[in-house]
Amino acid sequence: MTDRIATPPSRATVHGYPRQGQGRELKKAIEGYWAGRVTADALHTAAATLRRTAWRQLADAGVDEVPTGDFSLYDHVLDTTVMVGAIPERHRAAVRDNALDGYFAMARGTQEAPPLEMTKWFDTNYHYLVPELGPDTVFTADPAKPLGELREAVALGHTARPVLVGPVTYLLLAKPAPGAPADFQPLTLLDRLLPVYAQVLAELRAAGAEWVQLDEPALVQDQPPAVLSAATRAYRDLGALTDRPKILAATYFDRLGDALPVLAKSPVEGLALDFTGPAAANLEALAAAGGVPGKRLVAGVVDGRNIWLNDLEHSLATLATLLGLAGRVDVAPSCSLLHVPLDATAERDVDPQVARWLAFARQKTEEIVTLARGLNEGTDVIAPQLAANRSARASRAASALTHDPAVRARAAAVTEQDTRRPQPYTERTAAQRARLGLPLLPTTTIGSFPQTTELRTARADLRAGRIDAAGYDERIAAEIRDVLAFQEKAGLDVLVHGEPERNDMVQYFAERLTGYLATQHGWVQSYGTRYVRPPILAGDISRPEPMTVAWTSYAQSQTERPVKGMLTGPVTMLAWSFVRDDQPLADTARQVALALRDEVTDLEAAGTAVIQVDEPALRETLPLRTADRPGYLAWATEAFRLTTAGVRADTQIHTHMCYAEFGVIIGAIEELDADVISLEAARSHMQVADELAVAGYGHEVGPGVYDIHSPRVPSVEETAGLLRKGLGAIPAERLWVNPDCGLKTRGWSEVRGSLEHLVEAARQVRAEL
Ligand code: GLN
Ligand code: ZN
Repeated sequence: MTDRIATPPSRATVHGYPRQGQGRELKKAIEGYWAGRVTADALHTAAATLRRTAWRQLADAGVDEVPTGDFSLYDHVLDTTVMVGAIPERHRAAVRDNALDGYFAMARGTQEAPPLEMTKWFDTNYHYLVPELGPDTVFTADPAKPLGELREAVALGHTARPVLVGPVTYLLLAKPAPGAPADFQPLTLLDRLLPVYAQVLAELRAAGAEWVQLDEPALVQDQPPAVLSAATRAYRDLGALTDRPKILAATYFDRLGDALPVLAKSPVEGLALDFTGPAAANLEALAAAGGVPGKRLVAGVVDGRNIWLNDLEHSLATLATLLGLAGRVDVAPSCSLLHVPLDATAERDVDPQVARWLAFARQKTEEIVTLARGLNEGTDVIAPQLAANRSARASRAASALTHDPAVRARAAAVTEQDTRRPQPYTERTAAQRARLGLPLLPTTTIGSFPQTTELRTARADLRAGRIDAAGYDERIAAEIRDVLAFQEKAGLDVLVHGEPERNDMVQYFAERLTGYLATQHGWVQSYGTRYVRPPILAGDISRPEPMTVAWTSYAQSQTERPVKGMLTGPVTMLAWSFVRDDQPLADTARQVALALRDEVTDLEAAGTAVIQVDEPALRETLPLRTADRPGYLAWATEAFRLTTAGVRADTQIHTHMCYAEFGVIIGAIEELDADVISLEAARSHMQVADELAVAGYGHEVGPGVYDIHSPRVPSVEETAGLLRKGLGAIPAERLWVNPDCGLKTRGWSEVRGSLEHLVEAARQVRAEL
């Protein structure tokens, strides 16, 4: 491996880069524009400066070919919608009047026209805007953005590769436009879409692009033959164009499986594949298929979704194998670096011992450059980097943070029995009924109440030292009293304390658990101008002291009615954090579960009769490939049960989930063995209640009857109507009445009326029983 290999030199490249800038300048410019403080010119200048800085960073680090078009003022799928002219009817006038304002109108909606729907980009926490397509959709090429950004990069002297969402993935991400038949399949528009891509490709070539990257991550999901043949056709047709740049078809997030031969045999000049995590299977599959001789292979050997140092020696070994399987092998992260923060060296508060283990976008860029040099010039020239990498990895492996003997011993000793409640549900529910004395159709909420400006101000005051901890606590206590007083007056049966002390449902716990790390500047785009700072699961997890007992007990001391304890479940704690890559996810989940189990025990001992463990992320972390799902669901549901199974029969365990499409995890919901589950259901007209009934689910269910995603206050009639619908599927003895999700994003004015209506609806429907 130390010898130079006689293939064309390997280059280093990336699929995309964080957009926001080190100081989140993009967020400031865009929000300033929305508020009227920043002009359109100033916004465009700020955006161009950020692009220039990103390319400069990449080039200075030694990246040979920089991406263009990966930048976005909001979302790259929305940019694609603009590029192919698929502007929804309701936004056309706005776009015609002013392209920039029309663009933001599609993203955010206006008084007259609701925005495009937003949903998660594959299994990441990035959200894209869902294209709306119908049989009448006419595509027209609008290549201004990709062309403009390419020209900028070229003018700055960079070798640039425009990156576009590929046509097959674009269509698969779309949904039927309003007015189109509900079963309309956007993929049927492929033949109409391809000429638009052909035109964009030709213009990019004319502007100097040697290569264009077409991203097709949808092909790493299990796709039916119809999709595979559409992909075959798309790349055959695009490949056959004469006036085009070389095409790099890129996939990431998982292995290509059946779609590998589709792309490998297509007439495109290059393939970009992910070789990390479950996508490592691409290596063997590629070898078995005889490789892609003569093609360029962009090898994603550096994980683009975690924040850990790469194992450089392992990557070199992968790359060495790949050298024999392609005409030329370039080195890249597995996917766009959009999913990681910009620069680990900005984290000055992280213990320097631990900081050495971190690699954000800039550090990952250095890694791929090092790997490419190693391939080209032999590993001797990168000996210092390899030594530093080895030593940092060894320090991580040997650290007390990653190896807490007490945590490990406890996790190893977990038995099947620890994960099962000793009494069957029927016995538990009888004991809980006797203890709680609730009416039929009991009413409750999901946990949070509005996070008011006063609460945010209190937190900011505490941080800035304007108030002390005691002053802050008094404000929280006052809020809890208010929230309880409202719930009592409204007539809710099972109360909550309202979560006013929690900045975020994951961060709050991460800050209180040993083994978790917070970042200062580790912002990652969630959607538009919204960025999150996921905490890092860095070491073995333990709970030095109770995290929620004081506020829960305080709340319970203020009322006679039961107050629900409120915890974030182990799977969600993993899903919304950066996870360890040095042990299986199942092991990390088990450690988090044990820490949460202690909290459950302490809450119970403090007299809490109802404890809710939220798992809103159970569905979203589902592996992309169905073959991987049973394994995931087994450890995920076990972690939930380990968290909750230590309680007495008369302690009621609730869980909560919120999203559409429960279908694929109905079986897993049963496996949780919770006593009560609340779910999002208002928008789908209680469909989930039917699904659970059909599946024979026999525990208690609270399908949401109040859609908290809308500022509307639903009437008593409307709420009662949904409830009656729920009764059609779930018998009254097992039906709860609650909103879809927490209320933290709503205002008090809406929440008050909606919950009063909810309680009244429950009363009316109870009277009909
Ligand atoms: N208990 C949390 C809340 O009410 C649940 C939030 C969620 O489901 N995402 O805010
Ligand atoms: Zn929810």
